[in-house]
Amino acid sequence: MNIRETDRQYVAGTYRRFDLALVRGNGSYCYDETGREYIDLGAGIAVNTFGVQDAEWIDAVTQQLSVLQHTSNLYYSEPCARLAALLCEKTGMQKVFFSNSGAEANECAIKTARKYSFDRYGDGRNTIVTLTNSFHGRTVTTLSATGQDVFHTSFFPFTEGFIHIPANDEAALEILERDSNICAVMIEMIQGEGGVNVLTNAYVQELAARCAKHDILLIVDEVQTGNGRTGDLYAYMHAGIAPDIVTTAKGLGGGLPIGATMFNEKTAGVLTFGTHGSTFGGNPVCAAGAYSILSRLDDALLSEVKAKGEWIQSSLSDADGIVGVSGRGLMLGIETVKPAAEVAAACMANGVLVLTAKQKVRLLPPLNIPWDALKKAIAIIKEVCKQ
Ligand SMILES: *Cc1c(COP(=O)(O)O)cnc(C)c1O
Repeated sequence: MNIRETDRQYVAGTYRRFDLALVRGNGSYCYDETGREYIDLGAGIAVNTFGVQDAEWIDAVTQQLSVLQHTSNLYYSEPCARLAALLCEKTGMQKVFFSNSGAEANECAIKTARKYSFDRYGDGRNTIVTLTNSFHGRTVTTLSATGQDVFHTSFFPFTEGFIHIPANDEAALEILERDSNICAVMIEMIQGEGGVNVLTNAYVQELAARCAKHDILLIVDEVQTGNGRTGDLYAYMHAGIAPDIVTTAKGLGGGLPIGATMFNEKTAGVLTFGTHGSTFGGNPVCAAGAYSILSRLDDALLSEVKAKGEWIQSSLSDADGIVGVSGRGLMLGIETVKPAAEVAAACMANGVLVLTAKQKVRLLPPLNIPWDALKKAIAIIKEVCKQ
């Protein structure tokens, strides 16, 4: 079969794919159909947390797969309960709703925020504030939440009730004092798709204080930043804030689809019987895999992520053809003199897979990438970026 031709003929044309078909992998290496090796600094967009062929994850998944692959949410199931307990234990959150993707995790957060406000304050207090350049998903509602005009076209009518304010702009938080219809604010601690833009701790702390003052819920979208990616278990922990709702997905599953929406004491009781649901949510195979990932995100691993991130930043920040590096841990954006897409293509030609985000080259390697693979890949990126 000609993979490219068949894909182009039969798969909906929503993706501009790299000219590469991956057939297998091992750790932080991937291989194409000719057997050519690539160092993978994308990890399937921050999904393959421990790379490919991670033995512990495969064991957890296959063991569950061989006894019971699905139950539906009509029945109790241990992997789902165990994972929810571990998430709460590690974050201090009180309850979890499981879904299958980041967009769904955010949909659940949005529904919860509106119901929280409706239950307390009645109709009308339902506006949700998000930030310019944010990305929250591809459903009609999460597109509305996404603070980028390029996404607000073609699919009218979009869900109402979202407003966008500039990130890291404390003056713009003034709207929280003025607009009594605001029920929640949703942020990414580091905007991923928007170009790896870091929110400052001071800004986030000010935002959290204003939200608390007006009983406005603070939702942190950790779909990309979560699960150890930035060197903290969840990136909000870096700012020392306590969100009312945290969403995550991507790296939690380690390669199988799972979304999680976590609630604190304020929001844990909002979703009651029949108010939300998902056929696949909390699927035992995905949950068993996620447990294996989450249980290994310990302090030693997180310091390793921080050390690798700092080393990458210091190696790249003064390099020829590189303007600067943003991000934290192993979620990094490189501003290059050459166009990012050109750098990504040249990296691929030289055996390194990188991503882009807006005008930046984006790195999201497996969290356990070995130092030798990382050093080899960064040397190639440096060479490619040279003017
Ligand atoms: C990827 C992403 C989403 C959407 O996740 P899907 O699993 O593709 O639905 C939402 N928010 C953020 C911050 C993301 O990075």
